[in-house]
Amino acid sequence: MLTLPTYDDVVAAAARIGNQAHRTPVMRSRTADQQLGASLFFKCENFQRMGAFKFRGAFNALSQFSAAQRQAGVITFSSGNHAQAIALSARLLGIPATILMPLDAPQTKIDATRGYGAEVILFDRFKSDREALTADLAARRGLSLIPPYDHPDVIAGQGTAARELLEEVSELDFLLVPLGGGGLLAGSALAARALSPNCKVYGVEPAAGNDGQQSLRSGSIVHIETPRTIADGAQTQHLGEYTFAIIRRDVDDVLTVGDPELVEAMRFLAERMKMLVEPTGCLGFAAARHAGLALAGKRVGVILSGGNVDLRRFGELLFP
Ligand SMILES: *Cc1c(COP(=O)(O)O)cnc(C)c1O
Repeated sequence: MLTLPTYDDVVAAAARIGNQAHRTPVMRSRTADQQLGASLFFKCENFQRMGAFKFRGAFNALSQFSAAQRQAGVITFSSGNHAQAIALSARLLGIPATILMPLDAPQTKIDATRGYGAEVILFDRFKSDREALTADLAARRGLSLIPPYDHPDVIAGQGTAARELLEEVSELDFLLVPLGGGGLLAGSALAARALSPNCKVYGVEPAAGNDGQQSLRSGSIVHIETPRTIADGAQTQHLGEYTFAIIRRDVDDVLTVGDPELVEAMRFLAERMKMLVEPTGCLGFAAARHAGLALAGKRVGVILSGGNVDLRRFGELLFP
């Protein structure tokens, strides 16, 4: 039996990360409100430290390490933002970090991770099993593994973003959350169920990789091939045990959007709101615009989960 994290764990995480994480702003846009006939509240985790919400979960997890764990170090695998989050948190806490990253991860993310002082090991994610590679290294070097999403402390930490949003704007009718492995969605659902019980909570994933949607609808975790999508933070192959248990219990549904809708949302956020949001970070907003939800007259929370995108790539996506 899994012991699932609860809203109390989200509250405890908020206290642990309070001195280190930014309380990110909640932005509004009259144009977006007019276009959708709704009131949108954007929780801007693109302004979080290291550029994404993942700092919250990583710092919450590492700050609970024992002295022996701190000394030996942490290991993880990640296509980018979790890598930077672990690397930065580890540096802040004086813990050595080893990170497995895919060869084709955006160069900015690899550079940033090395820049925070972590040892980066590159691997081919279309050929090798990153979880097995990581487990092997962890065992040989005595490192503690903090995975990107399927860990109670990571989920609790990620939930602090939605908690801040709901504390600031009070109850919502809808909450739209980007979905990869489900840490952000599970944590957000814990916060929403506690602070806004009638809020409909939706995960949003790329149409090319709708394993979360399939999992929720079939009642068990569905595994898929690594999806090809511009949403590189949501190229996960399956939900986790912890995240799925919470998503199943507390999330209303999982929606999908295509890459062209992500580009359109990115363009709107840049042009109208002067914000740089990475493709994965646009999933929730793209769903608000294109998923056919009945948002008219409603209060809608949208988590913009991160802003780490190469500027060259950003330009190519907007001006192909
Ligand atoms: C990791 C990530 C996600 C997905 O989060 P999960 O907890 O894996 O579901 C969404 N957006 C960004 C920017 C991310 O880095």
